[in-house]
Amino acid sequence: MDFTYSRKNIYAVADEAERKRIFEYNEGYKKFLDNGKTERETVAETIVMAEKSGYKPYTLGDKINKGDKLYYNNRGKGLFLLHAGTADVAKNGVRILVAHVDSPRLDLKQVPLYEKSDIAFLKTHYYGGIKKYQWLTIPLALHGVVVLKGGKKIDINIGESDSDPVFYITDLLPHLSQEQYKKTISEGFQAENLNLIVGGIPAAGEDSDAVKKGVLAILNEKYGIVEEDFLSAELEAVPAVKAKDVGLDRAFVASYGHDDRVCAYPEITATLETETNQTVLTILADKEEIGSEGNTGMQCILIRDILDEIAKSYGVNPAVLREHSMCLSADVTAGYDPAYASAFEEMNVGFVNRGVTLTKFTGSRGKSGSSDASAEYIGYLRGVLDAEGVIWQTGELGRVDLGGGGTVAMYIANNNIDTVDMGVPVLSMHAPYELVSKADVYSAHKAFSAFIK
Ligand code: MN
Ligand code: MN
Repeated sequence: MDFTYSRKNIYAVADEAERKRIFEYNEGYKKFLDNGKTERETVAETIVMAEKSGYKPYTLGDKINKGDKLYYNNRGKGLFLLHAGTADVAKNGVRILVAHVDSPRLDLKQVPLYEKSDIAFLKTHYYGGIKKYQWLTIPLALHGVVVLKGGKKIDINIGESDSDPVFYITDLLPHLSQEQYKKTISEGFQAENLNLIVGGIPAAGEDSDAVKKGVLAILNEKYGIVEEDFLSAELEAVPAVKAKDVGLDRAFVASYGHDDRVCAYPEITATLETETNQTVLTILADKEEIGSEGNTGMQCILIRDILDEIAKSYGVNPAVLREHSMCLSADVTAGYDPAYASAFEEMNVGFVNRGVTLTKFTGSRGKSGSSDASAEYIGYLRGVLDAEGVIWQTGELGRVDLGGGGTVAMYIANNNIDTVDMGVPVLSMHAPYELVSKADVYSAHKAFSAFIK
């Protein structure tokens, strides 16, 4: 008998049919990535998928009937899919899957447009944790909304179609970088230098700010907006790149925003495809990258309101329903990167191709800021995953005391709900172009499906 524990490489054990399923599944994932680069776009895209599966809009206060498939659209930036099961929610509670659909990016400031040396720029304010230098000299697209004074909303998407222009942030040429090289990375790359080039042709007959005025004329012609309308806009600069296979064997997918759409997509497909009698609440959250605050983040009481509505409709005590509910906080973890081996502890890290990764606790230093799931809950999940033949692994974010990070897990767990993090290991997390293994993406789908069965 062998009593040792080891991880398995999915590609090494998958038969031909399983490999085919892995690759086909990722074709859908790549489309999902390209169609939704912001929280708003991903929510809209998911609503289309959910409606095709029979989901209908839900209004708080409406009675929920067994068998209902409902969605609650939270301000276009967050989404709750509810499958009202026939099982007893007083005993089984609700199975909750939650992933976030906001990703690190460069937001435009509220007064963004200026001109200097005959070039027009848009000032940005970065959102989430980024390495600033990674956002220089790459094609960037602008996505978002502009809300006019009267409330009319204009959708903006510039830079994704092949015929669209893109936006661009400069870097200094190496020939003149002797001083830049001597600086630390945080000194050498300043947030106030993250300005998008947006134009260069002066408007005819203008003496001052002629290029800026030329840009405003185009914006007004195309979208009917004036400079003041930026005050009530949410415009996000994201990499103008599409998801692509990586490697001659196409084992990997590179894309912007795998964190956390690489968990959102499996969560959605598992929810829409899995036959179950459980009540399932599948959440796409906003604002995770900046602390889950506000009315579209997971710290909002909305999840509590929706669980209360379920309890009320089923005639169950809401405290009892919460006590018996379980949650997978579906968020990415750092994949082991051999180029940066010293950042990890090799026995406790997710490896690419070895499956969706369960992270018992996140946080930093002495598990600070983590809800730390119980051995009992993980023991239960082991049984569920193994019964469905899911290849999975366990891992911490990285070496202890090197840094750390959190997820929404604690905000769910604080409602007296057993919660643990489980997600796909990512290489180059938070970079403009991140990398995941196709096998791990499909493993996440299988794991989330097993969980709600
Ligand atoms: Mn994340
Ligand atoms: Mn993140």
